[in-house]
Amino acid sequence: MKLYNIKDRSEQVNFEQALKQGLGRYQGLFFPDSIKKLDNLASLLRMELVPRSSAILAHMLGGEVSKDVLDAILEKAFTFPAPVVKVSENIHALELFHGPTLAFKDFGGRFMAQCLAQFNAGKKTTILTATSGDTGAAVAHAFFEMENVNVVILYPKGKISVMQEKLFCTLGKNITTLAIEGTFDDCQAIVKQAFDDQELREAIALNSANSINISRILAQICYYFEAFAQLDAKQRENLVISVPSGNFGDLTAGLLAKALGLPVKRFIAATNSNDTVPRYLKTKSWTPRQTLATLSNAMDVSAPNNWPRIEELFNVQGWPLECLGYGVTTDSQTIDALRELDALGYLCEPHGAIAYAELTKQLQPGETGLFLCTAHPAKFKESVEDILGNHVELPEALASCADLPLLSQDFGADFSAIREFLMAM
Ligand SMILES: *Cc1c(COP(=O)(O)O)cnc(C)c1O
Repeated sequence: MKLYNIKDRSEQVNFEQALKQGLGRYQGLFFPDSIKKLDNLASLLRMELVPRSSAILAHMLGGEVSKDVLDAILEKAFTFPAPVVKVSENIHALELFHGPTLAFKDFGGRFMAQCLAQFNAGKKTTILTATSGDTGAAVAHAFFEMENVNVVILYPKGKISVMQEKLFCTLGKNITTLAIEGTFDDCQAIVKQAFDDQELREAIALNSANSINISRILAQICYYFEAFAQLDAKQRENLVISVPSGNFGDLTAGLLAKALGLPVKRFIAATNSNDTVPRYLKTKSWTPRQTLATLSNAMDVSAPNNWPRIEELFNVQGWPLECLGYGVTTDSQTIDALRELDALGYLCEPHGAIAYAELTKQLQPGETGLFLCTAHPAKFKESVEDILGNHVELPEALASCADLPLLSQDFGADFSAIREFLMAM
C-alpha cells in the first residue's frame, strides 16, 4: 500500500512506515495513493465480520501484509460484534460499543496494537497519545502488558467522565497516564510538538496511536460494511449514515468505505457545539474557537485533526463537499434526543444521541437512517442517569475497575515538563 503526505506529496511511505510514524513531515497526514473499488461487494456482504474485514483490508494493503497474517491480526482484534438494532420504523442504531472498553475506538486501537506487535517484534516503542476520553482506554487496553511497548496517555484533567478515567488510569504496568491542566486540544498540541522533536522522537522511539494513525482508520472502514451487511435490500437502497464527530476519524473511515464501493447515499457529520467543521462547510472559513465542554466530551474538539483527509478524499473522488450533510446539536437538544430515544425503548448516551438528533432532522421520505452509537451508555452513567432519571447497570468491564485507585500524574499544559518526563522514562 502506498500512502503520501497530504502536506508534502514527495513524502511517500508504505503501510508499515505510516503505521510506525503516525504523522509525516510538517505534521502532515498520510493518505492512500490510490483507492480501488472492491469488485466483489455482493459476496463480501455475505461473509462474517472477520473474514470480510480481512478481505477488505487485504485489498487496501495490496499485498503488503499477507492474507494469513491479516486473518490472524483480525481474529485477535475484532473479538466482539457490531450489531445493527432497530430503533424506529426507518431508523437503526449501529452499536460499536461491545468491545473491552465499551467504545468504537476498540476496533482501531486493537487493530493498531496487533499490527505493531506484528511489525515491531522485539523492538522498544513508546506510544504517546492524547485522548478526549475513549481513545485512552482503547489504546491502554489494546497494549496492556504487551512486551517492549510503553504507553503514555495525555488527557484533559476533569474533562472526561469518571468511568472513562477509571477504565485506563487504573491499569499501571506499561501504561502511564498524565492528567493535563487544559483541554483536549492542548493535549493534542503537546503530542504534535513531541512528534516534531526529532531528538525526543528517536530517543524513545515515539509512535502515536491517535486517530491520525492510518491503521485505526483502516480498521474502522470494516464496520460500515458490517452494518450494511445486516440491512435488507430495501434498507440498503437509500441509506443515510449519521456519524457523531470529534476528530473526524470515524467519518473519514465511512467515506473511505463509500470510496471503496459501499453504496451509501449520504453521510451526515454530526457535531456538538464545537462546530468548527459545520461552520466551515457553511462559510468556507476555517476558524476554530476555544473548545467548549459538553455532555458529549469525546467530541469536544475544535481543531479536528482528520479533517484534511476528508477534504483530500472529496478532492480525489471528485465529490462536491456540498454532498456532505452536517449539523450542530447543543447540550439541551442532546438531552431531548436522549429522552426521545428512551421513549422509543432505546437506551443511548450523549454521542449517539447527537447522531440520532441530526439524522431525524435531515432524513427524507423513502430513506433509511443509520446512526452510530459510539459508546456504551454506562460509560456516561452520571449524565445518562441524571437526564433519564433511571438506573444504568455497569457492565463487567466497568464494574471491575470502578473502585480501583487512579494512578495518573498531574501536569500543566507545558511541553517542556512533559518532554523531560518522557526523556527520563
Ligand atoms: C472518539 C469518539 C467520538 C468521535 O470520533 P472521531 O473519530 O474523533 O470523530 C464520538 N463518540 C465517542 C463515544 C468517542 O469516543
